[in-house]
Amino acid sequence: MKLSKLALVPAGLTLAMVMTACGSATKTVDQAQSTSGSSAGALVGVTMPTKSSERWIHDGENVKSSLEKLGYKVDLQYAENDIPTQVNQIENQITKGAKVLIVASIDGTAITTQLQQAADKKIPVIAYDRLIRNSPNVDYYATFDNYKVGVQQATSLLVGLGLKKQDGSEGDAKGPFNIEIFAGSPDDNNATFFYNGAMDTLKPYIDKGTLVVKSGETDFKTVAILRWDPATAQKRMEDLITKAYSDAEIQGVLSPYDGLSIGILSALKSSGYGTADQPYPVVTGQDAEVASVKSIIAGEQYATIYKDTRKLADVTVKMADALLKGAKPEVNNTTDYDNGNKVVPSYLLEPVIVYKDNYKQALVDTGYYTEDQLK
Ligand code: BGC
Repeated sequence: MKLSKLALVPAGLTLAMVMTACGSATKTVDQAQSTSGSSAGALVGVTMPTKSSERWIHDGENVKSSLEKLGYKVDLQYAENDIPTQVNQIENQITKGAKVLIVASIDGTAITTQLQQAADKKIPVIAYDRLIRNSPNVDYYATFDNYKVGVQQATSLLVGLGLKKQDGSEGDAKGPFNIEIFAGSPDDNNATFFYNGAMDTLKPYIDKGTLVVKSGETDFKTVAILRWDPATAQKRMEDLITKAYSDAEIQGVLSPYDGLSIGILSALKSSGYGTADQPYPVVTGQDAEVASVKSIIAGEQYATIYKDTRKLADVTVKMADALLKGAKPEVNNTTDYDNGNKVVPSYLLEPVIVYKDNYKQALVDTGYYTEDQLK
């Protein structure tokens, strides 16, 4: 009932009135009827990139259920990594009268027009996990410390190779070791942050010759995998093996995401790696997806980065709730995330490296997974 009434009032007008309601005698139908302010039962539009990766499924479910617990209605959409689909979903949510948009974008530059439509209706926008670029109409950003994720990925590679210990001290190994580098999707702002964090960490070792990228492929554009596609990573790994490893072994692969790591391990397996004589190289990851944690337990993938999506959902939902109530969301970073148009006020969470020897503590003891799920 509330929604149909709301539909009679332009969405932006309602929110603008909420925000400026103090001292104003004007009340919308919605405000007049609500017992706890006009935000009660408001619709929140949530768009996630794809269901092909487990993490986004968890993200979507967590955000939806937390918003619903607060009494909001939620329109949750997945776009299977198709940009026009996500564009339509956001447009539909604006039309349906969403009062806040939470967007985990596929291409952080492709939704500028829709964000302008949202701004015209005074609908605040929260960028979820991935920064939305080149638009003034992004109000807040909730994410993990993405540069640190990259540092941790590189650190886990160094630990796996014996060049560092888990406590950060120098390892006993001397190298040189052959490694290859992969990065994420070039249209995802996070991918650059991960890459920069990782390369800043690896560069001193590459400069000294302790790490050797035999293919010579190190620059972001060359190593980036469009849309984070596992099959593309698998193909690139096969090509690298053919190109640079006919008479040499590869000892490490910097992979920025568990899905890519699965493709990479599969290419390595086809080339004879994964045996007692020729073990898998040290392969990194991100997201602590079930299949990859199992692979870590089985001694295949070496490490992953755990980002607690429950916490991310929690921070984001608090932001949305504050915005809907006309309050100021809490942030902890106002310097690092320039979207090309403005620095977006952000809340950054802490990522954690997961190895075979701490997965229980990090993932099971925290209730993220049950031990059974990882069997
Ligand atoms: C996320 C990562 C994820 C990747 C692929 C990035 O934007 O931050 O957690 O691995 O997308 O889905």
